[in-house]
Amino acid sequence: MATGEFELIADYFNWVQSHPQIECSVGDDAAVLSALPVGHSLAVAADTLVADVHFPASAPAYDIATRAMAVNMSDLAAMGAKPYAYTLALTLPNADEQWLKAFSNGLRNSSELYGIPLVGGDTTKGPLCISLQLLGLVQTKRPLLRSAARVGEGVYIDGSLGDGAAALALSKTGCLVRGSYLHGRFYAPGIQLQLAQNLLSYASAAIDVSDGLLADLNHIAKASDVALDIEYSQLPVSEECLKLAKNDDELSSWVLSGGDDYRLAFTMPDEHAVTLKKQGYDVTRVGEVSSGSGVQCRDEQGRPIHPAVDGFTHFR
Ligand code: ADP
Ligand code: MG
Repeated sequence: MATGEFELIADYFNWVQSHPQIECSVGDDAAVLSALPVGHSLAVAADTLVADVHFPASAPAYDIATRAMAVNMSDLAAMGAKPYAYTLALTLPNADEQWLKAFSNGLRNSSELYGIPLVGGDTTKGPLCISLQLLGLVQTKRPLLRSAARVGEGVYIDGSLGDGAAALALSKTGCLVRGSYLHGRFYAPGIQLQLAQNLLSYASAAIDVSDGLLADLNHIAKASDVALDIEYSQLPVSEECLKLAKNDDELSSWVLSGGDDYRLAFTMPDEHAVTLKKQGYDVTRVGEVSSGSGVQCRDEQGRPIHPAVDGFTHFR
């Protein structure tokens, strides 16, 4: 490496000054955080981004950093957790100062956006890979679990679906323009932390849509031992995604099984939808919880819709 490991850490990853919950952070053998506030439990989530699997290796380092934070924050949000602290395990092929500077800026800006301090990590040489571990606070015994959906509730989504897959398709042809809506949805999807907090009062079950809507909803159906009936025509889709899809099959596969949306999907009694909309949240009812098992998606004539491809999963 052009600069030593410790200089690199000091230069690019040691920006956190003082923070009430941090007793000791970057620079010692381990970070030390003070005990949790009364009435809270710790939520822990980790997500790894591998170059050319989760993002193009040639993507701007700033964008890689904001994406790494967002995909991790999405998991904390889906539990109704508040950001607390995080660590970064960074594997780099070389210590390119320009790359590190941009990556560090992206990460720092994301940290500030979500109010979460970087308290430590590990830096190694190897194929480009970014792994974050986030800690969050949840009210004790009140996380948003996948297992609590009840028959008769509505199924809801925040924001639109399919943008992540549409962005990925554009990116593969080199046409994903920095600053565009779809670029933003892929590299810096704003995670709805406040909505997720509010859901603690209204929703029964929640999940973040990261692997594809049907695949993720299936986790709720299974864990809650219910069926979820989804109406295809109700699924919210952005104009950008609509415009880009070559045909109905492509659109339905982006919307139903394209991953990378990082939206919240949740179940709740329908009466709460008005309240959430009054609070300014863009939530859409897309179906309902019934007795049975699995996730069924139907068109307006009641015919089942099966996407051309399944949700994302490694090792298949
Ligand atoms: P050790 O030699 O004990 O393994 P490390 O070299 O892993 O120590 O790390 C030295 C210090 O720098 C530790 O406090 C660690 O948490 C922190 N650190 C290492 N890499 C990173 C990183 N990428 N981001 C933030 N902190 C880091
Ligand atoms: Mg180490």
